[in-house]
Amino acid sequence: MSDFKMELPRDVLYIIDRLNGHGYSAYVVGGSVRDSIIGRSLGDFDITTSALPNQTKAVFADCKTVDTGIKHGTVTLVLNHVPYEITTYRVDGDYKDSRHPEEVIFTADLCEDLARRDFTVNAMAYSPDGGLVDPFEGRIDAEHRIIRAVGDARTRFSEDALRILRALRFASVLGFEIEARTALAIRELAHTLSAISKERIYTELKKLLMGVDAVRILTDYSSVFEIILGGLTVGKLPDKERFDCSDYYSRLAAIFLLNSSAPYVAAEKTLVDLKTDKHTRSYVSSILRVYESTSLESVRDALRTLSKEGEEIVGGVLSLGILMGRFSDVEKCNLERALSCGIPYKISALAVRGNDLSDLGIRGERIGETLIELLSAVIDGQVENKKDDLTSYLRPNI
Ligand code: ATP
Ligand code: MG
Repeated sequence: MSDFKMELPRDVLYIIDRLNGHGYSAYVVGGSVRDSIIGRSLGDFDITTSALPNQTKAVFADCKTVDTGIKHGTVTLVLNHVPYEITTYRVDGDYKDSRHPEEVIFTADLCEDLARRDFTVNAMAYSPDGGLVDPFEGRIDAEHRIIRAVGDARTRFSEDALRILRALRFASVLGFEIEARTALAIRELAHTLSAISKERIYTELKKLLMGVDAVRILTDYSSVFEIILGGLTVGKLPDKERFDCSDYYSRLAAIFLLNSSAPYVAAEKTLVDLKTDKHTRSYVSSILRVYESTSLESVRDALRTLSKEGEEIVGGVLSLGILMGRFSDVEKCNLERALSCGIPYKISALAVRGNDLSDLGIRGERIGETLIELLSAVIDGQVENKKDDLTSYLRPNI
């Protein structure tokens, strides 16, 4: 047995013990074992067991269980409000459509279960009694920070094309290198990603873009991104140091800004195709639309932009500008001063309301128009934001 020891939380030990007590073997598996080897903070603990789903449910009959993926052997057990996925050892049958196995077959052999997993670093299991079970030398790969397909990379990516993007995601998030044959198969089979649902592609892309090594992966595998980003050639990227400090939306926007002749249109189209949520798509395309035309050269410029576009979009434009190295400290400072100087940039902050204007005899649509004119006059310094000053300013024209 190997010398590897993993600290497991009490509830995880309890799950393993209880399954063992009923005669089943059980291990933690996948990401938590990998992350423990490389000293990364642990997320979820997934458990794999020889118990069939109904047997797992019988063992935990007094606890809350949910049939999350019973067809694939997964029962979710909720212990102290934390969900644990417990999955029966299984082998995948033949694959159809580069994504779904035709059937899953349960097995009593842990090593068969590990063999169906995608990468060697994800194909390790651990339990206090069984120690580390590592038939594909995932520990060595984890220590050398390598992503390597379990078995023949081409075959594994042909079974499930999503693994192509998972490889890039793990390399980006963990800062790992992709082993040569695995890398070759990724490039050869990238076109098969078209069989994968857009939602799944986008979920991986999101995690990948926030990885510590996103710039390296985007650069080295640009041909893969061309396929998932609607033909966009990702040839240019911002400076890595600034990229690493930036938020998700700025990263996404910067990729379009640097590589498309019509960034706003391209981003909107690609994000619709990727079936992203509405907020992402409208926010990223708005940031790109406003970015070109925005001026923050004076506090009044900043106020005008804020009044037209709102704080959220201007904040996004500023973050994008910082990532692109476009905004100077003076411009950042102008925006901060605009936000805190007390001069209104929203109609709701004006010292007059619509009913004050009706008292002055203004009616219908003119009320809204007049409020916009007043806001603009306040921003331009023509009148102070005081009720008397604003009404006197209007009087000659009523
Ligand atoms: P993370 O920390 O991001 O959750 P993870 O390794 O736990 O990483 P998951 O997507 O949660 O990744 O999957 C759990 C495990 O299931 C993986 O470690 C891997 O063993 C296996 N797995 C998941 N998806 C696939 C797939 N498409 N093909 C083969 N094995 C997979
Ligand atoms: Mg996981």
